[in-house]
Amino acid sequence: MNALRGIDILTYCLYSLIILIPLILHLRRLKRGEERARQAAEQGKLFSEGPRAQHPHIDTANCLGCGTCAEACFEGVLAVFGGRSVIVNGYKCVGHGFCAEACPVGAITMVMANPSMSADMPCLTPEFETNIRNLFIVGELGGLALIKNAINQGRQCIDTIATRMRQGRSTASGPDIYDVLIVGAGPGGISASLRAIENKLTYITIEQDEVGGTVAKYPRQKLVMTSPVQFPLYGKFKRTELSKENLLAFWDMVLNRADFNVRTDEKVEDIRKGEDGLFTIHTVNNQYRARAVILALGRSGTPRKLGIKGEHLPKVMYRLIEADHYINKNILVIGGGDSAVEAAMGLARQPGNKVTLSYRKECFRRIKERNVNRIEECIHTGKINAVFNSIPVEFKPGAAVLDVNGHQHEIPNDFVWIFAGGAPPNDFLKKVGVQLGACDLTLEASQEASQQPSPNGQLTLAAKC
Ligand SMILES: Cc1cc2nc3c(=O)[nH]c(=O)nc-3n(C[C@H](O)[C@H](O)[C@H](O)COP(=O)(O)OP(=O)(O)OC[C@H]3O[C@@H](n4cnc5c(N)ncnc54)[C@H](O)[C@@H]3O)c2cc1C
Repeated sequence: MNALRGIDILTYCLYSLIILIPLILHLRRLKRGEERARQAAEQGKLFSEGPRAQHPHIDTANCLGCGTCAEACFEGVLAVFGGRSVIVNGYKCVGHGFCAEACPVGAITMVMANPSMSADMPCLTPEFETNIRNLFIVGELGGLALIKNAINQGRQCIDTIATRMRQGRSTASGPDIYDVLIVGAGPGGISASLRAIENKLTYITIEQDEVGGTVAKYPRQKLVMTSPVQFPLYGKFKRTELSKENLLAFWDMVLNRADFNVRTDEKVEDIRKGEDGLFTIHTVNNQYRARAVILALGRSGTPRKLGIKGEHLPKVMYRLIEADHYINKNILVIGGGDSAVEAAMGLARQPGNKVTLSYRKECFRRIKERNVNRIEECIHTGKINAVFNSIPVEFKPGAAVLDVNGHQHEIPNDFVWIFAGGAPPNDFLKKVGVQLGACDLTLEASQEASQQPSPNGQLTLAAKC
């Protein structure tokens, strides 16, 4: 009897342990997760001016606190804190929206930053229309980065135009008048063009450079990360990782099949709207007329220059496409963003190159999570000499001069790459009459996002970071 009771107690203890051990482990994991979130939040507060463009908005009433969103975001923007998802590193958001896709209860939507953060962004309606009727902006120029966003917006924008045409709201007609003229042949412009064909609209696409936009300028064999997207005239494009070359080849295949009506090497200089509601689009050698215009210009614009002595030298460049063309060289890369870091790592992989990476701040703040570890590894193994708090002051034929904490250092140099961002085409937008920054059509959502209640009163970071 006693032996039986002993076995009962033993079994009871065993079952209790089976339940208790995973519970304790789970609670410890939660605590560690919260500690990591708190640290990330602190770091975000220190390093961040806040989300500059798109970022997730969490509907706290619906959030389950399951953490699926935080796991889906490999940029480290979100974390679970006090049983709810919160934004801890808003400035790192690149807008891929994986968090929104992953949320099982649809509690996340992507919104834009508040107006003070997007003062140089065009003011757009939810249909991507500017303050000028029938003049639309899609893709990165509207503030939302990423290929899939450009493709989705290009498609949706044409649907709006096609609906208006069908409803006869744009009645002006005449010879040589296009239903829509698309400026820019990056992913946004390509998608809009193909959708125009699907909707049987007359269209023309004007591109100042080559088809492919920013993607065509990525370094050779760059791995492009994207999400499944509905691609006009093709259907669901499901690849999530592919080389730049393969992505361009895919677009090329669909465009060739569709007999893409594009003029390349032609820059749009001005756009005027007449009293008849028609647009006249001016390029250097031509004039076009259209009922609607879509600007899919991207934000890369013209690379920002440093304005220092020797910057005109042919060895100074602003874009790296073929890293493997450079071997056994002394190379200086300037900048602290993903483009600079990726270029430096690509060049450091080539035999014999000595790569110096100069950045004006004390550490890398705005780079993607996966680049953080890779660049640290390159610095620790000596493949890249990172010089923080440094400012280039002069380029000479065989050297470059850096100011490091007030002291000038001359280093041997064969090539320089500057990644100081691009000057977005805001002057062009102003000339055309597009209103910038003064309104925020997602203001309500942004305000809600910034007022997320904090579990312990200390984490109002959605507003601060
Ligand atoms: C280095 C780098 C890596 C990236 N990696 C990824 C990634 O892995 N995944 C991802 O989703 N996104 C990535 N992006 C972002 C992505 O490339 C952009 O968000 C996307 O290309 C934006 O598309 P878009 O059509 O709006 O503009 P763009 O692709 O920039 O195209 C705009 C086009 O408009 C043309 N144009 C501009 N002005 C005029 C004018 N006046 N007249 C005629 N034509 C004009 C330009 O020449 C250009 O071809 C990356 C960006 C960079 C810089």
